[in-house]
Amino acid sequence: MIGVEDRHSEARERRLGPLAESLWIYHVSFSCCGLEVGAAAGPRFDWERLGCKVVEDHRNADVLFVSGPVTEGVVEQLREIYGEMREPRFVVAVGSCASTGGMFSLEGEKPLKGLDASIPVDLFIPGCPPRPESLIHAVLRLQDKIGRREK
Ligand code: SF4
Repeated sequence: MIGVEDRHSEARERRLGPLAESLWIYHVSFSCCGLEVGAAAGPRFDWERLGCKVVEDHRNADVLFVSGPVTEGVVEQLREIYGEMREPRFVVAVGSCASTGGMFSLEGEKPLKGLDASIPVDLFIPGCPPRPESLIHAVLRLQDKIGRREK
């Protein structure tokens, strides 16, 4: 079991930069995985303790979380949102549908083979749905990636 001291020294060792320690997230959800993002942000998993905050305006966001199947019909809006985000910006595909198109096809509108067919993706989170722990893990990996850039 990891004690408080160990956690503090682990946090010191990670020594992330200011951006990595304060990630503002804009979340676009097309389906059920969105609930898991809500759970990760809620009091039980509480990703605010990692410096994450869900914001209402994508222009203020550092990270775009996309969950659910992405179809041709929403690609333009997603590109617009991505284009209006401030730099540096990062994208996370949440769950199988956003990462690969998933196992379902929507009525009359087939999902793309993955979010990266429309915008660049930094991190794919597997699972249908991914558990909130997976989202927390993804945030830690993203922080490491951004932290390395900031050094
Ligand atoms: S990956 Fe599974 S849980 Fe997530 S949106 Fe697709 S079907 Fe729903």
